[in-house]
Amino acid sequence: MTRFTKITASIGPSCENINTLTQMIKAGVNVCRLNFSHDTNDVQGAKIDMIRSVAKNLGVPVAIMIDIQGPKHRIGDFESEKHYPLKIGQKFILDSDSTPGDETRVQLPDLDVIHSLNIGDRILLNDGKIELRVDAVFDDAVETTVMRGDEIWSRRGFNLPDTDIDTDILTDKDKSDLEYAITKEPDFIAVSFVQRGEDIANVRDFITQRTAHPIKIIAKIERPNAVKRIVDIANASDGIMIARGDLAVELPFEQVPAVSRRILRECRKLNKPVIMATQMLSSMVHTEFPTRAEISDVANTAYLRADSAMTSEETTIGDNPINVIETMNKILAYSDKDSIEHPYDWCNIENIPENDWSRSVSSMAFLNKASAIVVFARDTDSATQISCRRPDIPIIAICSDDVIANQLCLSRGVFPVCDRYLFGQRDAFGAAAAFGIRTGKLVIVDDDKISLRTLD
Ligand code: PGA
Ligand code: MN
Repeated sequence: MTRFTKITASIGPSCENINTLTQMIKAGVNVCRLNFSHDTNDVQGAKIDMIRSVAKNLGVPVAIMIDIQGPKHRIGDFESEKHYPLKIGQKFILDSDSTPGDETRVQLPDLDVIHSLNIGDRILLNDGKIELRVDAVFDDAVETTVMRGDEIWSRRGFNLPDTDIDTDILTDKDKSDLEYAITKEPDFIAVSFVQRGEDIANVRDFITQRTAHPIKIIAKIERPNAVKRIVDIANASDGIMIARGDLAVELPFEQVPAVSRRILRECRKLNKPVIMATQMLSSMVHTEFPTRAEISDVANTAYLRADSAMTSEETTIGDNPINVIETMNKILAYSDKDSIEHPYDWCNIENIPENDWSRSVSSMAFLNKASAIVVFARDTDSATQISCRRPDIPIIAICSDDVIANQLCLSRGVFPVCDRYLFGQRDAFGAAAAFGIRTGKLVIVDDDKISLRTLD
């Protein structure tokens, strides 16, 4: 069964060995995501080498995505492991004093952020379990009132859903992680807590000043102000991740599905691939079968025609990451097929001009009942753009080099074949045969010359 929706798998302790990775890639992983919030550079580097060698041995294109932590904010330390209760209505202060905190105050190690806060802004601690409201901002302290209470302890993360944060997108840690990451020539770098297109432009500058390797940049959408600026951010980046984990903390959670649909629609118009991320199969960290709700969530990712579904803890720390990928593959492949047989209209309503070449390719394929679209891919643009028209047949991309083939692993319905001979011969039939399509018609896109050919 042909699966159109790609699988991005987060790699962690449960799957960092050659056997498991081999089985996971065989079961359908298209993109491996490495989270640079954890581990030293050497450890991360060894994992990247391992993934590359497994993909090479299997002879399949697999992309590597490095996810950098970004400006994730944390409070300072309390006395030892002690938990402190914060009660509704009480005052709580965040300040520059490094003495251990108590139920009245704690240090804010990254004090810069204070200057972006306004009176009335919310500060959400510990995944939103505690909500503080800013009453007053001083040079070295913030006074707040507790609006929702819970226990608090050392180094909890916090989110600022109402605040446009005016600090550099790249922290010192990110910069040193990136310096190292680019030496490993990843296919994608995912940037956390993006707020504006300019953030992506800055990361791109940082990368291009240091390497000529063509790395694609994925913007993680996890803040309300990023949702507002989605067009600006999508234009500046090469793809989007709907990071539902932080997004559901910073936005009222009931808005996340609606926002996800809007992001998908905008990005399809702008020809940018979209990854649906977080808690897709989380119950499978410890169970063999997904919940009914998770099955629906994964299936809906296919029905919504996203480019990729992503795994998180279920593959990084789960009991059986191979089973997770097999499960995701099964659900996506079935739902892709069903959504093609019974198309759901809203996907096709978009403002792409009639004379857009990629729309013509899709219509030509549809009207002639073509069995595949073959693209000669000198770069990722043509195949990605056709993919964003969401034709219901495979797009076979004959690539001239591995990097392009890897990067096309993220795009919905694109099947990259890295074959310099076929690329040089302009042999679409050879590629179609290599892909296993032996009957029907092909739409061939070669340097924007489009033709329809019938297979003998
Ligand atoms: P994270 O990003 O796992 O790096 O936090 C994903 C998310 O927030 O959903
Ligand atoms: Mn996140």
